[in-house]
Amino acid sequence: MRATKIVATIGPASSGLETLERMVRAGMDVARINFAHGQPEDHARMAAAVREAAARAGREVALLGDLPGPKLRVGPVAGGVAELARGTTVILTPRPVLGTSERLSVDWPGLAEVLEPGDVCYLADGTVRLRVSGVRNGEVVANVEVGGPVASRQGLNLPNVTTALPALSEEDVQLLAHAVELGFDALAVSFVRRREDVEQVRRELGERGSDIPLIAKIEKPQAARNAEEIIEAADGIMIARGDLGIELPIEEVPLVQKRLLALAGKKAKPSITATQMLESMVHSTRPTRAEVADVANAIFDGTDAVMLSEETAIGKHPVEAVAMMAAIAEATEPELPYGRWLTERGPRAADQYHAIAFGAVGAAYQLGLRAIVSPTQTGATARLISAYRPRVPVLALAPRIEVVRRCNFLWGVHPRLHDEPRETIDLIESSARAALEAGFARPGEQIGITAGLPPGKAGGTNLFKIHRL
Ligand code: PGA
Ligand code: MN
Repeated sequence: MRATKIVATIGPASSGLETLERMVRAGMDVARINFAHGQPEDHARMAAAVREAAARAGREVALLGDLPGPKLRVGPVAGGVAELARGTTVILTPRPVLGTSERLSVDWPGLAEVLEPGDVCYLADGTVRLRVSGVRNGEVVANVEVGGPVASRQGLNLPNVTTALPALSEEDVQLLAHAVELGFDALAVSFVRRREDVEQVRRELGERGSDIPLIAKIEKPQAARNAEEIIEAADGIMIARGDLGIELPIEEVPLVQKRLLALAGKKAKPSITATQMLESMVHSTRPTRAEVADVANAIFDGTDAVMLSEETAIGKHPVEAVAMMAAIAEATEPELPYGRWLTERGPRAADQYHAIAFGAVGAAYQLGLRAIVSPTQTGATARLISAYRPRVPVLALAPRIEVVRRCNFLWGVHPRLHDEPRETIDLIESSARAALEAGFARPGEQIGITAGLPPGKAGGTNLFKIHRL
């Protein structure tokens, strides 16, 4: 049974119902809809298609909306692409001009205020490098140090200088409100820099009566530095290697990935490793050896989920890419350092929930329990158990479908919708029955069951039972 979760980005290559259903069957646990592309109507259509495909395949899939946040972009370019030649001068202007190789518009008037001579900016996924030579009349004059093609609406990265940008634009707030209406299960927040950026999104959600979990995307050097407070403020993180590899020296990305995944694991927050994981499958039916090793190594680094981007959004083989992720995870998981993770991540927080989760995973390890069953009101108990990385599956029994879907981000957790009985003894029995029905254990085998006494209360987990079926 695969423990690592698979996030797939939905796009033109994967919006068809039939393709989506095959992706769900191949192992997609979370469908990401990137709000940086398309219109709200497109997002609504894709979300509905994901729900329909999941229903047809008979598996729950979580919908992850991705808010663009303070991402800068160049405006439309004449002919679609401008060729910037090395050694030439280009002007970045806030005026809405049609872009050329001499002048590109950037839809943010504050640009000239935050850039100074000597600053570097990157265009076209980091392939084009500009160095600012001066600022004149609200425009930025820059020298092209590394040339190349720049297409309409491509991103502009300013490592270390975007603190002046608001965390949420007017457009982000509208996208967020729409995501709440559409019933998204989680939201990713792009270009987070500090904990306040996450808290601001949380406040916007709160005003709309929503408690959707937030995944902070770590894609700025400041975010990598402030990772600890960001992980505490968020419900999970994404190692967004695409932009991170532009904003940081690319050779530092693997180390940042390792550090952040370990930190998220210690704090029991789920993590997603993203971007270019199986990039060559955009065109090819098979990934490269290096890509397969990258996916396996992210799992060894302790990631909860691996993500597909262009592979499934615009690639030729979206279903095969999901199946390949699943195959790599299944081959890798038997060799993971389970016991070491358990001790390394040991129960730091002095509370009953960590103690029970730690005890449950320890007992599973010591006694060879077949599964851990965890009735969970909010998913919190399942999340803590997952963080200690049990070798056996965790069956999370949640009374709300939203909570079932949220558990799809958690490594090793297999969620089911399940009404929680009022009496503790019934709770134990119904948990045991659920384990049998799910095929996680057979009669005569031992499982572990966490429970709350009295049942039915969030934050009430205070029991651990070793149970023979
Ligand atoms: P994006 O985020 O695909 O929304 O840019 C992921 C990344 O930057 O890696
Ligand atoms: Mn990004």
